[in-house]
Amino acid sequence: MQNLKIKVNALIEGANKLEYLISNKLLLIDVLQKNAIANFILIKKRDKIGVKGKLKFNLRLTCSRCLTEFTKELVEQLDALFLPDDINKKIKKDELSYEDIQTSFYTGEEIDILPLILDTILLSIPMKPLCCENCKGLCPMCGKNLNEGPCECK
Ligand SMILES: [Zn+2]
Ligand SMILES: [Zn+2]
Repeated sequence: MQNLKIKVNALIEGANKLEYLISNKLLLIDVLQKNAIANFILIKKRDKIGVKGKLKFNLRLTCSRCLTEFTKELVEQLDALFLPDDINKKIKKDELSYEDIQTSFYTGEEIDILPLILDTILLSIPMKPLCCENCKGLCPMCGKNLNEGPCECK
């Protein structure tokens, strides 16, 4: 069973380059096709670990206008910071000034990037997907897909 836990003491100080092929079986997001690929660097500064990189994946979506299924490739930024849990206990939330990036806390010796990957994919799923920007949709009278040509209705 694959997991996305990274041992902190296996990281070197500074930049650690990593690549993960993440199985859909681990993520369990029904619109996700096959695998996601995460390319990122972990930047370790003592007990603070920054994550910077890209997550590439394909979503199987249904167009909200013409109801055609289509696949969309997405590349989302990964940008997060992991801090040890004892910092969390010592300082109040508003003293943290990492507003633009997702901050997580880790306990013990490993960080788990699975929640970050899941959030990134889930937040990218469009509410009203479109197969193309100027999708003509279905004719409200006969139901024909107008992307395939005009219908007989007037
Ligand atoms: Zn469409
Ligand atoms: Zn029609």
